[in-house]
Amino acid sequence: MSNLNNTITEEFQCTVKENDYFNKNILEQLAKLQEVSAKLNKTVIRACTYCGCIEINANNKLYSYDGDINLDMIKLLDPHHISGDLCEDCKDLIEKNIGSCLYYLACISNSFDLKLNEVLLKEMNKINILGKFNIE
Ligand SMILES: [Zn+2]
Repeated sequence: MSNLNNTITEEFQCTVKENDYFNKNILEQLAKLQEVSAKLNKTVIRACTYCGCIEINANNKLYSYDGDINLDMIKLLDPHHISGDLCEDCKDLIEKNIGSCLYYLACISNSFDLKLNEVLLKEMNKINILGKFNIE
């Protein structure tokens, strides 16, 4: 990860810490993260159902593991299950909801004196090491 990304992540976490007056309780932070995560889910669903700017092919047969197909083949077959493009309204809402999730993740990290940048680096290293076996 570049120094620029480190700086942005650290600056974001510091900005959250300096401007967060109402989310100091870890239980509230956890509840708010769950709430904004649910809003993100709802926004994606509404983009498909209410707005209609995207369509989601929920058939996951192509994603399921078949013993005859190795994981590299599944990656190559990866069909884009979302068709269409987000309209500006849906895109703005999804970005806002992802930002809210990041905000509460920063709050939780601050409560435990964890550095988001280190969390990201550890996760990235795990992904790089485990590769296709990075399944939780
Ligand atoms: Zn839309």
